[in-house]
Amino acid sequence: MERLIIIGSGPAGLTAAVYAARANLDPLVLAGGLYGGQLMLTTEVENYPGFPDGIMGPDLMMKFREQAERFGARIENVDATSVDFSKRPFVVRTADNQYEAKSVIVATGASARWLNIPGEEKLRGRGVSTCATCDGAFFREKRIVVVGGGDSAMEEALFLTRFGSSVTVIHRRGGLRASKIMAERATAHEKIDFIWDTVVEEVLGDPVMTGLRLRNVIDGTTRDFAADALFIAIGHTPNTAIFEGQLDLDEAGYIDSPDGTSTNVDGVFVAGDVNDIRYKQAITAAGSGCKAAMDAEKYLEALEFAVKEEVHT
Ligand code: NAP
Repeated sequence: MERLIIIGSGPAGLTAAVYAARANLDPLVLAGGLYGGQLMLTTEVENYPGFPDGIMGPDLMMKFREQAERFGARIENVDATSVDFSKRPFVVRTADNQYEAKSVIVATGASARWLNIPGEEKLRGRGVSTCATCDGAFFREKRIVVVGGGDSAMEEALFLTRFGSSVTVIHRRGGLRASKIMAERATAHEKIDFIWDTVVEEVLGDPVMTGLRLRNVIDGTTRDFAADALFIAIGHTPNTAIFEGQLDLDEAGYIDSPDGTSTNVDGVFVAGDVNDIRYKQAITAAGSGCKAAMDAEKYLEALEFAVKEEVHT
């Protein structure tokens, strides 16, 4: 029986692992086949404190991992495929194993949605990004495009005006989904212009992005548009499929938590982007991983104390 299983190995899961291992909880981390989370898909990270010269996303995650292992966290690169939180001990299954645990931290993150168009994957980190906060500063005085019509797209576009020589928002419809205030701010900004009723069909350039192939969805015409960066802001999908029916989720599929670490199941905690529709930063995920581990420690302490008392009486 495990005392603590951590599902996920991005900044939240691995920070929880560092804290839990140092608290002698002997955590087992089910890191996922594609371990390390979203930072494994990023190039340079310049806003993670402690690295004044920046650090590559995958290198940062290897450091997180080494630090957790140094204190004894056991990390397996396997996906959790299903859970049963309706009974105790909790059950977590992988393709080949079934684990029982007294407590669980869910840190499975969220995945940025991609357009799934030609050139997008090849030019990731070479012009194509899903995070303006992370990558905007690489495009000073460059022509920047943002795809999307929601609040995220407006927020990204407004943020990117600090860097780009121009910021063009491309939206597939003729009206924005964003809240009125965000839409007004973006439309009023002198550096931001809009291309409506248009989809991006291909990202162009080799080895770096040089433009986009656009298609007007009303008349079907296509044209090439010169640009240096494409920020895709069409939403995130929380990685919660295996928790449906087990944990309370909000309407967007994120795990509901009244305080950012607890869930509707006592003993199951949550950390990182899987509960964060707002900030989605490595540092905020790491902070919540720390909190979840400390709360799990308190929970286990009380649980194991209660069991000891029962044995004595
Ligand atoms: P969202 O509201 O779901 O908007 C996604 C946008 O991307 C929509 O305009 C959608 O177009 C477009 N889109 C989706 N799939 C697409 C595709 N394959 N190709 C082209 N366009 C596509 O997502 P979000 O902007 O990330 O916001 C998520 C939630 O967080 C919202 O509730 C939002 O209000 C909130 N949020 C708030 C703030 C803030 O208040 N500062 C900041 C960020 C996010 P359609 O409009 O045609 O569907």
